Amino acid sequence: MTWHSWRRALRTAEAAVVGFDPSTRTWVTDADRSQGMDDLPPLKGKVVTDPASRGQAADDFGHLVHRFPGAVLEPGAVSDIMLMMKYCRTHGLQVAARGQGHATFGQGQVEGGLIIDMTPLNAIEVREDTAVVEAGALWSSLAQATLARGLTPPVFTDYLELSVGGTLSVGGVGGQTHHHGSQADSVVELEIVTGEAGLRRCSAQLRPDLFHAALAGRGQCGIITKATVRLLPAPATVRHYLLSYPSVAALTADQQRVVNDGRFAYVEGELGLPTGSAGWSYQLEAVAFFDGTTPPDDARLLDGLSDQPVDREIQDMSYFDFLNRLAEGVAYLKSTGEWYRPHPWWNMFLPASRTDAFVEAAIKELTETEVGASGVVLLYPFPRARVNLPLLRLPDEETVFLFTLLRTASLGAGSPQDMVEANRSLYLSAQAVGGYQYPVGSIPTTPEEWRTHYGPEWAAFEAARERYDPDGILTPGQGVFPPGP
Ligand SMILES: Cc1cc2nc3c(=O)[nH]c(=O)nc-3n(C[C@H](O)[C@H](O)[C@H](O)COP(=O)(O)OP(=O)(O)OC[C@H]3O[C@@H](n4cnc5c(N)ncnc54)[C@H](O)[C@@H]3O)c2cc1C
Repeated sequence: MTWHSWRRALRTAEAAVVGFDPSTRTWVTDADRSQGMDDLPPLKGKVVTDPASRGQAADDFGHLVHRFPGAVLEPGAVSDIMLMMKYCRTHGLQVAARGQGHATFGQGQVEGGLIIDMTPLNAIEVREDTAVVEAGALWSSLAQATLARGLTPPVFTDYLELSVGGTLSVGGVGGQTHHHGSQADSVVELEIVTGEAGLRRCSAQLRPDLFHAALAGRGQCGIITKATVRLLPAPATVRHYLLSYPSVAALTADQQRVVNDGRFAYVEGELGLPTGSAGWSYQLEAVAFFDGTTPPDDARLLDGLSDQPVDREIQDMSYFDFLNRLAEGVAYLKSTGEWYRPHPWWNMFLPASRTDAFVEAAIKELTETEVGASGVVLLYPFPRARVNLPLLRLPDEETVFLFTLLRTASLGAGSPQDMVEANRSLYLSAQAVGGYQYPVGSIPTTPEEWRTHYGPEWAAFEAARERYDPDGILTPGQGVFPPGP
C-alpha cells in the first residue's frame, strides 16, 4: 500500500464532521448526529478530522513543533472561511491558515482548533499589469501564469513552492529585493477574512490599518484570501554570475557596491562551509536580465569588483529556469530523505555597519555539526528604504543584510534541540548589535520580546488586532499576542 492510498483509506474511514460539542470541546461527526450537535454551517467544501489530515496540519518544514488541530477545513470557496470563522468565534476555537506548511517552528499550527488548508483556493487571473491571485496559489504557478503573458512579479523567494498568502504574511524577500522591496511591497490590494468573520478589501488607501497589519502581519488580524500583485515585463533570459571572494569583508563590500549602483537585477550571496583543507568560501550571486539576443556587457557589470577572476562562473539560462533553480537540488534532497529532517532555521536582518564582525564571529566555530550536511548560510544586502512595510522590522541603517543559517539536523549532525538553543543564543547576540528577527525561523521568542521587536509599530498592530480579531482567535502559533479566551 502506498502512503497516498493509505491516507485515502484513513480519510474515507472517517465520518463527516457536522458540528462542535462545547461541553466536551470535541468535533462531532455524522455518527453523533443524534446528539443534536449538527450545527455546522452548510459549506461548499468540508471539515475533516481524520488523523492523516490533522497529523499533516500538526507538522511543518521544521518538524520541531507539533500541535494537533481538532479539525481541518478544506474550503470550497472563500465563503466557507467566513462561515467557519464565525463558527469558531462562537465556540471560542482558534484558527490558522496553512499555505504550504513551510514555516519551521509551528507558526501555522493550532492545538485543538481549526486549520484552514488554503491549497484549494489557488485561482490566478493575469491582467494588464497586475495579477489577482488567490492566497493558496504557489509562486511557481503565478510565475508560469504571468510568464505566459510576458510578465512577472518583481520579487521571488529562492524557493518557488511557497504559497502567496504564506510569504505575504511574512514579507517575502529575495535577490530582487534591493530593487523592488519585499514581495509584500508589490501588493496593491488584498481581500481578507478577518477574525470577526467579515470579508474586507483593503489597500494603502482603503482600510490602510488592515492592509498594513496583514502584510508581514503573520496572520494576526485575518486570513488573506486574495492579493492583487503588481507585474513587470519579464525578461526572456538571464546571465547568472557566481563570483568568489577571500573574506566576508571583501564579499560584503562588493555586494554593497553593486546593490547601491543597481547594475544587476538580482543580488544574493552564500558562505560555503569549510571542506577538507579549504576554509570558508564566500560567493556573490548576481543576475543580469537580457532579451536572449543582446548579451549583457560583462566588462561593465564586473567593472571595479574585487573578486577572484579565475573563479568566475558565468552561465546563461531562461528566466524561469533561473527562478526555479532550486528545484533540482530539492528533488535530490527529497530522494535522500534529507529534505524531511528537522530544520531549525535562523534568519535575521543585520545593520550593515555591524555585519562583517557579527558574521565572522558567528561562523568562526561553525561546522557541519552545527548546520547539517545540507545546511545553507546566506548573506545579502538591500537598501532599507526599498521595504515599506511597517511590520517587516528592519535595523535602523541605510543598508541591511539578511543573514541566515538554514540548519538541517542531518543524521550525524547536532540534535534539533541543540540547534534551537544555538539559534536562541545567536538571536540574542544579533539583537545586541541592532539585528531584527525575520520570523520564518526557529527561534524561541516570548510575547514580550515580540512587543519589543515591533517597537513603535506595536500600538498600531495591537489596535488592528483588537479591531479585526477582537476574540484573539487567529494564528496563535506565532506567539505574538497572548491567546484569546
Ligand atoms: C525551502 C524554503 C525556502 C524559503 N526561501 C525563502 C526566501 O527565499 N525568502 C523568504 O522571504 N522566505 C523564504 N522562506 C520562508 C517562507 O517565505 C515562509 O516560511 C512562508 O511563510 C512559507 O509559506 P507557506 O505557504 O509554506 O506558509 P505556511 O508555513 O503555511 O504559513 C506560514 C504562516 O503564515 C500564515 N499564513 C499562511 N497563509 C496565510 C494566509 N493566506 N493568510 C494569513 N496567514 C497565512 C500561517 O498561519 C503561518 O503562521 C523559505 C522557506 C522554505 C522552507
